[in-house]
Amino acid sequence: MTAATLPRTSLAIVPPDNPGHEVPYHRYLDCIHCGLCLSACPTYEMLGTEMDGPRGRIYLMRAVTDGRLAVDDAVRTHLDLCLDCRACETACPSGVKYHEILEPFRAGLAKSGSPTPLPWVQRWAMRWVLPFRERNRLSLAPLRLLNRLGLGRVASLVRFLPKSVRAMHETLPSLSRHPGKLPEFLPAIGTRRARVVLLVGCVADAVYPETNWATARVLQKNGCDVFVPRAQECCGALDYHGQNESRAEKFARANIAACGFAGGEEPDAVISNAAGCGAMLKEYGQIYGNTDFADSARRFSARVRDISEFLIQLGPIPPTRPVPLRAAYHDACHLRHGQNIFVEPRKLLAQIPGLTLIPLPESELCCGAAGSYNLTQPEMAGRLGDRKAERILATGAEAVVAGNVGCLLQITKHIRQTRPDFQVFHPIDLLDRAYGGGGP
Ligand code: SF4
Ligand code: SF4
Repeated sequence: MTAATLPRTSLAIVPPDNPGHEVPYHRYLDCIHCGLCLSACPTYEMLGTEMDGPRGRIYLMRAVTDGRLAVDDAVRTHLDLCLDCRACETACPSGVKYHEILEPFRAGLAKSGSPTPLPWVQRWAMRWVLPFRERNRLSLAPLRLLNRLGLGRVASLVRFLPKSVRAMHETLPSLSRHPGKLPEFLPAIGTRRARVVLLVGCVADAVYPETNWATARVLQKNGCDVFVPRAQECCGALDYHGQNESRAEKFARANIAACGFAGGEEPDAVISNAAGCGAMLKEYGQIYGNTDFADSARRFSARVRDISEFLIQLGPIPPTRPVPLRAAYHDACHLRHGQNIFVEPRKLLAQIPGLTLIPLPESELCCGAAGSYNLTQPEMAGRLGDRKAERILATGAEAVVAGNVGCLLQITKHIRQTRPDFQVFHPIDLLDRAYGGGGP
């Protein structure tokens, strides 16, 4: 008897008010309790308790699904502390799809009782600001203006605001003038090799717009016609994981149509430079596999590429300008564990003349950003951020490189507490420099 043919649960039918109602039950049975995932788990590494590791959490969720355990505060706390970083999936020899257990279980938990309370400002921001590109940009405009006028210290008045607002403000790097929106179309330089769509992200476009411009330039220099559709929306990850599934679906439909997969001309690739967004976009085909747009969702997801993955598959034009820098590379969880991409960014960086890549111990351990985790679990996020900063500084590198906006924000915050001059880059920022860069 295979796992898939085993009875769905010892109760045969899971009642709809049980948080495990939507969990594919055979996923629990994939786990053989070997414990090989434990040392890969950031929360197990920090706390050393079985229930704060993948095996213990799977056990907890299965026991609740079977009706052997009631959901109490302890169960919620163990599950809330999980970063959903998926490091346990990379480590697991049995192919346990941990996120396919955790995510529907968490959705069930939210429906069956109050989720972990967040201050209203953060709930409001996560619902009405963060998933919207223009609102993010507008909300940061006053800070950019103060910095431009040399009044950046005025922003320190934020210390008189509530702790929840300060927490969000503290995650921001110093912001200079926003370079503006990318044009809707940027032509290939030289012989055209591909037609691509670039998705610029919501928070990423507000906080690191220069990286989007750099991505577009690098694509052009590698012979790509680049389309930046105005009608693109948030990837939907924040809503999907925050139990606002209907809006996540609305965003998915809009992105699929904006990229030409609903009757238009389909591009050769849909490019993302943010690991978290890319992982979500690649899952549209699976998440929306039973909807009326399932076919277009599958075609869309099959074309999604992280920028490093795309360039290595295309064969990058070798950059020639030296970038003399000793840099360490941090593996963003949703690139390493969510998309199995770890060779490609290193290969790209290795092509940059003058750049020395220094090995980073624990490069695969989560930095504590994990989507909105640094807002929902600030204490553990802070401990992981400090640990990451210590490891990076111990390498003697002058800079750290990571392919995800959340990691860039989190690492910048923690490392600059001790080294204000330390540099933090997206790999494409450095590749763009090596191609000669060029402002918007
Ligand atoms: S997703 Fe990450 S934090 Fe959660 S159990 Fe797996 S390794 Fe641990
Ligand atoms: S999740 Fe995988 S590695 Fe972890 S205990 Fe289960 S089978 Fe072993």
